Amino acid sequence: MEPKMQPKLLVVSGPSGVGKGTLLRRVFAESGFPLMMSVSATTRKPRLGEINGVHYQFLSAEEFETKRKAGEFLECFEVFGKGTWYGTLRRTVEEGLVAGNWVVLEIDIKGARTVKEQFPDAVLLFIEPKNIDVLKERLLGRGTETEEAMRRRLATALEELEHAHEFEHRIVNDDLDIAVRQFIDIIKSKV
Ligand code: 5GP
Repeated sequence: MEPKMQPKLLVVSGPSGVGKGTLLRRVFAESGFPLMMSVSATTRKPRLGEINGVHYQFLSAEEFETKRKAGEFLECFEVFGKGTWYGTLRRTVEEGLVAGNWVVLEIDIKGARTVKEQFPDAVLLFIEPKNIDVLKERLLGRGTETEEAMRRRLATALEELEHAHEFEHRIVNDDLDIAVRQFIDIIKSKV
């Protein structure tokens, strides 16, 4: 069945290392919904294998600031303390919705709150780990960050977990198959 309905914004938050990327790839492949990933802009440097315009729009601090001042962002924040900006471009979201897509934003909880203020019928999902040890292991195992960056990510993760209750939908990413099914069931319940 190809669902025909009013497209919505799906806002997915959760601590770094919780497995949002893997979960979303499965949901995109299996939901049967016209989902579109919103490509955010960031001032962080690309990781190995990341492609500009696909994973992020990688901007210099100056370019980001120019767009921010021009009001091009639906929301934007310095996610891990000072210095690294991330933001959702209004145009990306608007074009996605107009084209009939359910636009998926993978953003932090401050961004999620801001989007909800502007799009009250946005669906907010929080992905959480089974426990904090699992998260630490995943973050360490990834090996993409410096020790200092890791420390900041972990501190932010702990802080975010304290706000999980603000989200209308919470999914524990322990068994991936179950998490994927729960995610798809939530989308279906919004049609
Ligand atoms: P990473 O650096 O690992 O790609 O992303 C780190 C975090 O930044 C992610 O957990 C994600 O929630 C957040 N993030 C990515 N893009 C955006 C964005 O456009 N806005 C906000 N507020 N957060 C974002």
